[in-house]
Amino acid sequence: MEKFIPEDSSPYFNREMETLSRAEIEALQLQRLQQTVAHCMQSPFYKKRFEEIGLKPEAIQSLQDLRKIPFTTKQDLRDTYPFGMASVPLRECVRLHSSSGTTGTPTVILHTQRDLDEWANQVARNLWMVGLRPDDVFQNSSGYGMFTGGLGFQYGAERLGMLTIPAAAGNSLRQIKFMTDFGTTAVHAVPSYVTRLREVMDSVGVDPRRDTKLRVLAIGAEPHSEEQRRRIEEMMGVKAYNSFGMSEMCGPGVGFECPEQNGLHFWEDYYIVEIVDPETLEPVPDGEVGELVLTTLCREAMPLLRYRTRDLTRVLGRSCPCGRNHVRLDRMRGRSDDMMVLRGVNIFPIQIEKILMQFPELANNYLITLTTDDDNDNMLVEVELEELFTDDYQRLQALQKRIQRALKDEILLTPHVKLVPKNTLPVSDGKAVRVIDKRKVYQ
Ligand code: AMP
Ligand code: ZN
Repeated sequence: MEKFIPEDSSPYFNREMETLSRAEIEALQLQRLQQTVAHCMQSPFYKKRFEEIGLKPEAIQSLQDLRKIPFTTKQDLRDTYPFGMASVPLRECVRLHSSSGTTGTPTVILHTQRDLDEWANQVARNLWMVGLRPDDVFQNSSGYGMFTGGLGFQYGAERLGMLTIPAAAGNSLRQIKFMTDFGTTAVHAVPSYVTRLREVMDSVGVDPRRDTKLRVLAIGAEPHSEEQRRRIEEMMGVKAYNSFGMSEMCGPGVGFECPEQNGLHFWEDYYIVEIVDPETLEPVPDGEVGELVLTTLCREAMPLLRYRTRDLTRVLGRSCPCGRNHVRLDRMRGRSDDMMVLRGVNIFPIQIEKILMQFPELANNYLITLTTDDDNDNMLVEVELEELFTDDYQRLQALQKRIQRALKDEILLTPHVKLVPKNTLPVSDGKAVRVIDKRKVYQ
């Protein structure tokens, strides 16, 4: 386990693991997969599942054999709620995280002390990768409690040796005071919250370039476009790195951008990454979009085999100028359940965001509402204006038309567009709510 802190000059937190060649990664994965599968037989769920299909752990002799193992789904987690997937006795577990459970039964993820240690190492590795060192001051502005972005970043930043401020989400004035008083150099927050924070800074006359020591942002936990990231970098005057995580895989730390910002490195010493066609469940070639499927390789309390994340992405490459050969994945387009189907057209909120962010007249907050009017499904896109020129009707109308046309080119149907003054759309402290679906459901 990585308990040491490397020299500041090292670009790697764990040089050995981060610079493995592809052949070394695959050899390590096979060894860890075999151990994981054997360990999974302690879980009532996996034991039964393997017996049902007559699969023996010894049958896993190569990485290709992974495909003999059935997928694990969110439904499986629900069906075994709360502890039916544990691979160790409950007395060996020290932490439980549970999903928000806004739809259906919540899910539970258990951790042993070793799981938590490894998770902290994962997060520390990411933060080190983007240049953070023990001299940095790290402010974690994401929710604490069940949301893993809180404790996950807390322990990871502490493991790296940074002074870590558990600021939690919300209360922007206090966040700004912490940043200026404590000399915060790095912040983690969901992207939509960074935008909000910047607006509040403006309102109290704080300029992050002039009045703070901020130099790195970690943004993640929700889908965001490249355009949104660039805007955030521009408004805060620092680099913003995409951070991917999910509770089922531990939380933050699963994938993170390196300084090249050319995709998310997914840590293949901790996970096996597959991208499959969500319909046929067959693997898709590199470069093609499919559903991300992850197998944990180092988890003790609750290993998951071939977990269908429902996140859609694609492989960008398996080498990088940074010296890491861990697979690079494209930023997530959202979960398959975020997809809106409107008049037979499949649309992701991120497609809309990408277009809106191309208009300098527009601020970052937007809301998509789907309705049924006269038996027709319609989309309304409300978006905040960067500056207040709501009295110039002609200018507003021309802008609205241009946005509508650009959206039509992207999503192939024409939404209604409503331009609203800045700070009038709802904001959330946690993940942003981008879509409200008020459509009638026909049986
Ligand atoms: P949770 O388990 O509640 O933390 O939610 C995990 C989900 O959040 C993932 O499966 C993704 O859908 C989403 N997510 C997390 N990080 C990112 C990211 N960097 N980009 C896009 N979506 C993300
Ligand atoms: Zn890299």
